[in-house]
Amino acid sequence: MSGTHTDFSFDQFWWVSILRCPYCMEDDDKVIDSRSSDAGRTIRRRRQCLSCERRFTTYEKTNDGFKLTVIKRDQSRVPYERDKIIGGLEKACYKRPVPAAYIQKIADKAEENIFRRFDKEVPSTEIGEQVMRYLRAVDKIAYIRFASIYRNFGSASELIEEVQRAIEQAEPLEQLMFFED
Ligand SMILES: [Zn+2]
Repeated sequence: MSGTHTDFSFDQFWWVSILRCPYCMEDDDKVIDSRSSDAGRTIRRRRQCLSCERRFTTYEKTNDGFKLTVIKRDQSRVPYERDKIIGGLEKACYKRPVPAAYIQKIADKAEENIFRRFDKEVPSTEIGEQVMRYLRAVDKIAYIRFASIYRNFGSASELIEEVQRAIEQAEPLEQLMFFED
């Protein structure tokens, strides 16, 4: 499936193919931060060279025609915005011991999965599920707050069941994968 990260314009394709550290020219680096702008069409990545450890920034642009649309519960469509994920996470994590960097990281992980699987339209519920997958591993209270909005629980008992599941479910593996980089 073609997604944001692979639909490069010719210029961009050329550029990516020569992606190397501008300081030492090694081509091993790790991404330390990424955020999209321009309605998701540009992804800015902060990278660190694994060889000389210096940092540099890259910009990856998607095709001009690319635009991810979110299908809301009432079937209305709105443009995809990363800021909405961040906003939802910030609300859920209010007064919780969750560092801002984790919020960005959760959004990165969720976005990665969304962009990989959807290239034109994505249901809002799918975005919610992706975010919850990672949020649950980070902070269970924040997770429950987030879930209570996105899952739209019909009754208190549904919510309580979800709380119970969140408490019981230990996810050491996912947690490990989440923080290894
Ligand atoms: Zn370097």
